[in-house]
Amino acid sequence: MTFDTLKFAGEEVAALKKENRFIRPRVLESAQEPVSVIDGKKVINLTSNNYLALANNPKVKQAAIGAIEKYGVGSAAVRTIIGTMSIHEELEEKFAKFKHAEASILFQSGFTSNVAVCQSLMSSDTDLLISDELNHASIIDGARLAKSPRKIYRHKDIKHLAEILETPEARAARRKMVVTDGVFSMDGDIANLDEITETAHKYGAFVMVDDAHASGVIGKEGRGTVSHFGLDGKVEIQIGTLSKAFASVGGYAATTRDLRDYLGSVARPFLFSSSQPPSIAATCIAVLEMLLNEPEHLKRLWDNTAFLKEELKKAGFDTGSSVTPITPIMVGDTEKAVNFSKRLFDEGVFALSIGFPTVPKSKERLRTIVTAGHTIKDLEFAVEKFKKVGKELNIV
Ligand SMILES: *Cc1c(COP(=O)(O)O)cnc(C)c1O
Repeated sequence: MTFDTLKFAGEEVAALKKENRFIRPRVLESAQEPVSVIDGKKVINLTSNNYLALANNPKVKQAAIGAIEKYGVGSAAVRTIIGTMSIHEELEEKFAKFKHAEASILFQSGFTSNVAVCQSLMSSDTDLLISDELNHASIIDGARLAKSPRKIYRHKDIKHLAEILETPEARAARRKMVVTDGVFSMDGDIANLDEITETAHKYGAFVMVDDAHASGVIGKEGRGTVSHFGLDGKVEIQIGTLSKAFASVGGYAATTRDLRDYLGSVARPFLFSSSQPPSIAATCIAVLEMLLNEPEHLKRLWDNTAFLKEELKKAGFDTGSSVTPITPIMVGDTEKAVNFSKRLFDEGVFALSIGFPTVPKSKERLRTIVTAGHTIKDLEFAVEKFKKVGKELNIV
């Protein structure tokens, strides 16, 4: 099928290919597991966000199946029409408790949660959204949909944040929101949320932290960055995703009862896009119970994290500033990073290469994420292959 009117698409694809930016994803042919079948090959999978290795856990699957039996497969309505099921409300209450917040509100994804909050709260040109330069794309898009102006501060630079908050524009703003990722998704470093919160409050701003890579991963029982810094009750809005440690798909904002109720009446994704299948809520309730009652999952995740980081450093790799299960391996060149990933895959290890524009030029890398489900044997095998291919390509 050809349309003269769509000829530009072929030209765009050719241009992307020339710039090494064309994406053809590898395909998972098994469940998302620490050792998965990808493109017909069994490999050590160091690329998923399946932190707790619960995406194919029998207990969690049983919970999802139980919800399908009881509530069916879909809600067939948006939350504000008749898509609010009792299991959605049960999960909202549980996430509120988990985050030590008054209430929480579910959205269809982490991406949508960020867009919903930024767009709903930054609704006037007299508001001001202030964002870390390395925040996730969904925060950037949320800021674009907001009516307020936005200011960007240098990564984790509190002095710069304070300078922005001191400008006449910020002082005159009706509402000011400081937004940061809790754990930064490409570098695996943690936001200095204690300083950010103190600085924001000093100038009358409120804080939104996006804990996509932190919920179910850091803090007591995986409660996130706020718990990690002992800031319970001090951070106004905590965003979480259901699609990483929580092994399904969706997101939420945990906050005050009033703000939750406000978002539930005005947030456009909540009003105009249908609610999640009930099996998703059941999946998350099961994961929450495991986080609270089975500390071994988190312990294994962090033991594996320490092991892999240590071994990669010993082998001479530059693993950047990470202190979380996200461990980048710096390469510094797109083509080299792509080759590194390809050659590792041939050897039985999958670690995705990340290039410009996802990360800045010269910061091209492989990004690894260990899970609670990898065995030390899996990780030893992977490290051997990293060393072998790393030498071959003159990276170590
Ligand atoms: C993954 C991610 C998101 C998006 O979450 P989804 O639930 O996959 O839409 C948002 N913010 C950050 C920081 C992320 O890493």
